[in-house]
Amino acid sequence: MRIAVTGGGPAGLAFAAFARLAGPPDEVTVWERRRAEDTYGFGVILPPAALDTLRRADPRAADALAPHLAEFDAITVHRHGRSLTTPAPHLGAVSRRTLLRILRQRCAELGVRLHQGDPAPGTAALTARFDLVVAADGARSATRAALAGEFGTTTERIAPDYIWLGAERAFGGLSFVVADSPRGPAVAHAYPYGPDRSTVLVEAAHRPDTRELDRLFAEPLAGARLLKNRSRWSRFLQVRNRTWSSGNVVLLGDAAHTAHYSIGSGTRLALDDAHALVTALRSEPSLGAALAAYEAARRPAVEHTQRIGLASAAWFAGLADSGDGGGASGMPPERFLVDLLTRGGRISMRDLAADATGAVPAGTVVSSR
Ligand SMILES: Cc1cc2nc3c(=O)[nH]c(=O)nc-3n(C[C@H](O)[C@H](O)[C@H](O)COP(=O)(O)OP(=O)(O)OC[C@H]3O[C@@H](n4cnc5c(N)ncnc54)[C@H](O)[C@@H]3O)c2cc1C
Repeated sequence: MRIAVTGGGPAGLAFAAFARLAGPPDEVTVWERRRAEDTYGFGVILPPAALDTLRRADPRAADALAPHLAEFDAITVHRHGRSLTTPAPHLGAVSRRTLLRILRQRCAELGVRLHQGDPAPGTAALTARFDLVVAADGARSATRAALAGEFGTTTERIAPDYIWLGAERAFGGLSFVVADSPRGPAVAHAYPYGPDRSTVLVEAAHRPDTRELDRLFAEPLAGARLLKNRSRWSRFLQVRNRTWSSGNVVLLGDAAHTAHYSIGSGTRLALDDAHALVTALRSEPSLGAALAAYEAARRPAVEHTQRIGLASAAWFAGLADSGDGGGASGMPPERFLVDLLTRGGRISMRDLAADATGAVPAGTVVSSR
């Protein structure tokens, strides 16, 4: 089979490598419009389930990734000058650059044709020349847009306003910092992804500039600088599609669906999609049956994760607007931590245990200062 993949993010590269590994040898060509060194972003969370998927699909990629994972098992809340820490299930995070470098390396070793720095040809040209076109070109997929009516695409901007930054410091674990300013509160979600690096994602309705953010988060940053890399204030784009395939085009990863960043699931969903699509292509008798089987396998888990993501986003939007966590006003910090972990009761402990970044039965506060 001749397969074209538009987009060399986690979904496209993982699919290409997994497809070549699974054999029989398909010809797989990937187009990625950015040069390797232009990759945006800092670290992404990879829960154990994502690493399991990677290990099942490509043990060598999992081995290559393992030494680069920053691992942590605590959640800390900094609020009103106090810090509370609770144990959390094990989570890992890795630099997005490193993840992509490893996946690109695996693609090269496995004979994937990678056009790095080249925008993909148009959808009509690809569908005519290839047996299968995998649209892995992200939340704003042009491949999908060319057939938007067929896919039944809906997109929606979700509050709160956010900016994705880094910091030259490894936070002790997953950390949530609420900082008050005269123009309103700012909330940082931070987690380490290297010995001296963290992702710091900030939400604030008044969109403070970097200088104000440095000032607001000076205490938890402990003298470290905030870093920018294509960072800009935005609102999360929620993507849904009525169907994930049309003819010989199939949607993968963020092109098919997005789930709010506050539950840290996007990369995991992308890897799971890639694995499921390769499995379906190998096990089903026809392309049509494989694409239907892929969607049937993935849609329930994706919609569940999107639902949790929306509940989480709504809770954080309340916090960013009011500083009170949507009714958390005046709560003792311990109660605030529980409210965060269950996102104000909108997310059950079962949901959290299965899916979310705050994947914690909100336990005992083990340290407090
Ligand atoms: C602020 C923020 C924080 C996040 N935090 C996390 C987190 O902690 N954990 C997590 O798991 N996920 C996180 N995510 C989500 C995660 O980044 C995505 O879900 C994940 O990268 C999806 O992978 P993808 O390959 O589907 O899409 P993308 O990573 O978006 O990759 C798509 C690729 O396609 C390329 N492309 C686009 N158009 C074309 C074209 N025409 N031709 C060729 N190439 C093209 C792009 O350059 C890009 O490299 C976060 C996202 C945001 C916005």
